[in-house]
Amino acid sequence: MIVGGGIGGLSTALSLRAAGLECVVVEAARTLRPLGVGINLQPHAVRELTELGLGPVLAELGVETSFMSFADRHGNLIMDLPRGRSAGYRWPQYSVHRGELQMALLAAVEERVGPVRTGVRFEDFEQDGDEVLVTLRQDGRVLRERVDVLVGADGVQSAVRARLWPSGDPLRWDGIRMWRGVAEADRVLDGATVLVGGSNTAAKFVTYHISARNPRLLNWVAEVKVAEPGIVAEADWSRVGRFADVHRHFASWKYLPVNITELLAATDRILEYPMVDRDPLPRWGRGRVTLLGDAAHPMYPIGSNGGSQAVLDARFLARCLATHADPGTALTAYEEGRRPPTSELVLAHRSLPIEKTIALVSERAPGGFTSIADVLTPEELTAMQAAQRGLSDSDVRALNERPSWSV
Ligand SMILES: Cc1cc2nc3c(=O)[nH]c(=O)nc-3n(C[C@H](O)[C@H](O)[C@H](O)COP(=O)(O)OP(=O)(O)OC[C@H]3O[C@@H](n4cnc5c(N)ncnc54)[C@H](O)[C@@H]3O)c2cc1C
Repeated sequence: MIVGGGIGGLSTALSLRAAGLECVVVEAARTLRPLGVGINLQPHAVRELTELGLGPVLAELGVETSFMSFADRHGNLIMDLPRGRSAGYRWPQYSVHRGELQMALLAAVEERVGPVRTGVRFEDFEQDGDEVLVTLRQDGRVLRERVDVLVGADGVQSAVRARLWPSGDPLRWDGIRMWRGVAEADRVLDGATVLVGGSNTAAKFVTYHISARNPRLLNWVAEVKVAEPGIVAEADWSRVGRFADVHRHFASWKYLPVNITELLAATDRILEYPMVDRDPLPRWGRGRVTLLGDAAHPMYPIGSNGGSQAVLDARFLARCLATHADPGTALTAYEEGRRPPTSELVLAHRSLPIEKTIALVSERAPGGFTSIADVLTPEELTAMQAAQRGLSDSDVRALNERPSWSV
């Protein structure tokens, strides 16, 4: 049983099916709707979805990302990093609408696995010998069901994680608020670049196009340091934000590639979210229960890793379950394979590794610059490149040459 019909849960269902295993997905929402705004799927995740037969679907939905470019608050270029196939990977990176991706995964699950059980909320579990006794709630009724394995793919506020770790592990907020939205706008740069302007030690504005069908659709994310770091009680991806709250931080920007005021004004629904994570866990699950995606390793959404790592978890979990006779041993192998790299990523994201260099640019050249070579030393630029690669790039050759995880 998979708890959660998000990117991670649905990818798990497809991966288990492809590995010849049966599963059911329970999802608390009554109806799955295309919520959220843009996300990036890195080549290693695109590889896994392609091996699940979804390559053409991704190409129809998303924009094949060409570059990630960093600029100062005036739009002057600091650094360009090639992405996906431009960087030598055999698979592209895609910038895509999260909700549309979720709907595409849902359609594939419904076709290959069966209907997702929506309106069913996970509440509790008990391990009982070789089974897990799961308590669910549907329309006010309590359901108790026995399953072989329970996978908590229920996101950043995971109830499965809370049951596994009842002493609590708080949501840690770094004091940065993120506002997000999607609107129609003129093409930015080549129409396929993730453009990052400014630094979130003060204020940062990120844009990328996300739709192959509508090339004018532009995703934006504004990140502003508004408070000292602390602990927060909740992080709700659907919380609505206000134009005035975000606009005041960018009103003075003369940001050449994008008219920020017009873009914010053209956005139907502005969303706000605190930049939160949780400390990496010493173990994810126990016995026949485990965690996956944001439930296992919530991290700051700044490195194109939220959806991508969930897809990798899904494929690796299915492989482990299909290749080990005992499910408990399979879950141990899954955690041994996926927990160390994702824990490292959580901490790497938390250190906001490139922000200090970008802040240095605005300190040294507050009014802008003509050439970045006049502002940063080659060593500083190389260090910034390496820091960004640590967040968003696995080794190109290692990925290209790794045997498939298909069973
Ligand atoms: C509504 C929504 C909007 C988002 N928008 C963005 C965005 O704009 N940008 C971005 O970078 N990331 C966004 N994310 C997060 C992003 O999808 C994840 O970081 C990433 O895809 C990993 O996905 P996941 O499947 O682990 O978790 P999620 O995508 O969060 O999915 C978790 C699923 O579990 C369900 N669930 C939660 N509790 C229970 C329960 N007790 N019982 C049953 N089901 C439960 C939720 O309804 C949800 O469908 C959003 C997530 C959600 C849920």
